[in-house]
Amino acid sequence: MSKIIMNHGAGGEIMQEFLSKHIVSHFPKAAADIPLEAMDDSAVIDDIVFTIDGHTVNPLIFPGGDIGRISVSGTVNDISVMGATPIALACSVIMEEGLEIKIVDQIMESMGRTSRECGVPIVTGDTKVMEAGALDKMVITTSAVGRRSGLLDHNLKIASEYRDVKHRWCTDSNLAPGDVIIASGTLGDHGVAILSFREGYGFESEVQSDVAPLNKMIAEGLRAGGIVSMKDPTRGGLANTLNEWCSKSHVEIEIEQSFIPLREGVVNACDLLGIDPLSIGNEGKAIIGCVPSMANAVLKAIKSTPEGRDAAIIGTVKEGKERVILRTEVGGRRILEPPSGDPVPRIC
Ligand code: MG
Repeated sequence: MSKIIMNHGAGGEIMQEFLSKHIVSHFPKAAADIPLEAMDDSAVIDDIVFTIDGHTVNPLIFPGGDIGRISVSGTVNDISVMGATPIALACSVIMEEGLEIKIVDQIMESMGRTSRECGVPIVTGDTKVMEAGALDKMVITTSAVGRRSGLLDHNLKIASEYRDVKHRWCTDSNLAPGDVIIASGTLGDHGVAILSFREGYGFESEVQSDVAPLNKMIAEGLRAGGIVSMKDPTRGGLANTLNEWCSKSHVEIEIEQSFIPLREGVVNACDLLGIDPLSIGNEGKAIIGCVPSMANAVLKAIKSTPEGRDAAIIGTVKEGKERVILRTEVGGRRILEPPSGDPVPRIC
């Protein structure tokens, strides 16, 4: 393949392979606690948690959110799922010549509102303009820094009372057999809302994007204690998240299909369009791995927050091959393959 294709940015196996071969391989290795090549949600260097995200969502404004809310939420969530506390954001806004200034105002107002909601200020930024036709309306890149808090230490201390915990952050590689997997709410909402609105399928009356900052919900989970891994199932959805965890933690994960929270509108839209809701991106959900003795306490804490009210235990970690097994509603077992890419392009 000599040219970039959409799947190079679609969050699945094709993107992972492209990143390793053509991006990460060119960069010098850093002595970081969580380096680039870990390809986790954030890096950790000198105990500073650091992440960056580019946002190219089409359309800019959609049912349940807009590019401004995604750009704050997605970056805050990538810091939060490491178990860290996000402290500040930076943003770069690149605009196309001819874009309506009232649209810019609407999106920046939404960024401001989301920043206030999560309590993470935007402290530095940059703007550029490109000539008409050189990019599609607007691209926002946000970066964030976070730090370790007493809450993370408290959480891991509780986990280590149960078993040895390899890593001192909530990394993809921290799971062990016996751990319990929790989904913080209904899956597939964001991808289906955008696809439906963009293509005019009409499901957006039932399904809105879930885009939201999760730092407060995650803090409640850490307060309960015993969480070892967390990830926001963005591009590639739950299928991608769980397969990444299996290969990085060297475990098998078994999921109970009937336990996975799904909205009826998402199930109907996916049936009609022939796509798998488990491979679609989310922007306001976290997948959480915790030690078994604390699973009910973590679930209760997550469910006590507005973002986590539909949370559910969906499966467990096993010793075995690095793969995800889905136990179906009729009692069968099938392998939940890592998606080659998210079936819905440009959702974040
Ligand atoms: Mg992430």
